[in-house]
Amino acid sequence: MAGRRIAVFGGTFDPFHLGHLAVAVQAREGIRAEEAWVVPAGVPPLREPAHAPAADRLEMCRAAIAGTPGLRSLDLELRRRGPSYTIETMRDLASLHPDLELWVVLGADAARHVDGWRGSRELLGRFHFALVNRAGEGAIHREEALALGFRPDRTRILGIVSPNVSATEIRRRAAAGEPLAGLVAPAVARLIAERGLYR
Ligand code: ATP
Repeated sequence: MAGRRIAVFGGTFDPFHLGHLAVAVQAREGIRAEEAWVVPAGVPPLREPAHAPAADRLEMCRAAIAGTPGLRSLDLELRRRGPSYTIETMRDLASLHPDLELWVVLGADAARHVDGWRGSRELLGRFHFALVNRAGEGAIHREEALALGFRPDRTRILGIVSPNVSATEIRRRAAAGEPLAGLVAPAVARLIAERGLYR
């Protein structure tokens, strides 16, 4: 019998916004996973450092998903030293949960760069992938996914509907003191205001 499925959704989540929430919920539904685990990066590799401290980003993830069944957030990338490589996270999760079938959730943008990721061969050969296309973004199709190295028997392509929000725009609005309602969960907007994040 195939193991129980878990969708694993990593990102910088600086901050976690309603687009991210839509991905987590719809990826879980799309692959019929028992849960989706949201994994904020401690130190994001391959990009500029995060603006908000890792502990605040984790707390914003927790606040955003509280009350949504089947979602949880994990702090394992915050507890590890050095850059948060997905392969290391997936190895850790696989050894902690040998009974689970782990699915990595990737946006089309991330999927197109997987070749350059540390341990990409192991990642592609060992785990399952839910590749997420959102309306308005260059969608990834099956042929392209296979050419990128995703395995036909381990890969699903999902179309999702998500609000067109970006963390960059949210940080800009927070810095300018503009409202964040409708872009992030209310509890996340409160944390940003109380802690003066992104000022
Ligand atoms: P930034 O604006 O800081 O670059 P980001 O949201 O693009 O932020 P991450 O926090 O690392 O970056 O996001 C994780 C993943 O979430 C990304 O790979 C992206 O595919 C996806 N994502 C981001 N925004 C949306 C959105 N509005 N709808 C659906 N997916 C999204």
